[in-house]
Amino acid sequence: MLEPLKKWYCDTCGEIIDKPEDGYVQFKRCKENGLVYEDFVIVHHKTKSPLKNKRRDACYIYDSDSDLKSFLGDKGKVNLLSLLDPGPYHMPEFLQMTSNVRKWNDFFMRLQLPYYEEARRYWNRASSDGYFGDSNEVYIYMPENLKRMIEYYKNEDEI
Ligand SMILES: [Zn+2]
Repeated sequence: MLEPLKKWYCDTCGEIIDKPEDGYVQFKRCKENGLVYEDFVIVHHKTKSPLKNKRRDACYIYDSDSDLKSFLGDKGKVNLLSLLDPGPYHMPEFLQMTSNVRKWNDFFMRLQLPYYEEARRYWNRASSDGYFGDSNEVYIYMPENLKRMIEYYKNEDEI
């Protein structure tokens, strides 16, 4: 099992990012308004990319970025939330800075919610085969249930 909040899957090459220092987060800014974010990805840092000898820009996708470590723990929560709203001191007039809140939500959970990163790989499968049943929208995201879901599908794949 992938060590929660310590390892991730790279959105470019699909390989495992072994530790926070090996990762990088990148944001896509909206063409119409450069202040607005419309996508967020987790990729290998250039020096750790399996593609580093194949592509000059390795696993990088977008121009704006940050180290992954700053998006973990309490500092990470503040950084993630500031992508949604930097607050009234810095932005007296509210502007929706993230055009796709669902993508932001996914990004937030990948960096903050234990077991989500691995469980999300089974999401479509779980959804289509009825795994979630009539569980509510909180239950299915609880870390212990995400963990159980990973175990269920790993076990199923072995049979
Ligand atoms: Zn990669």
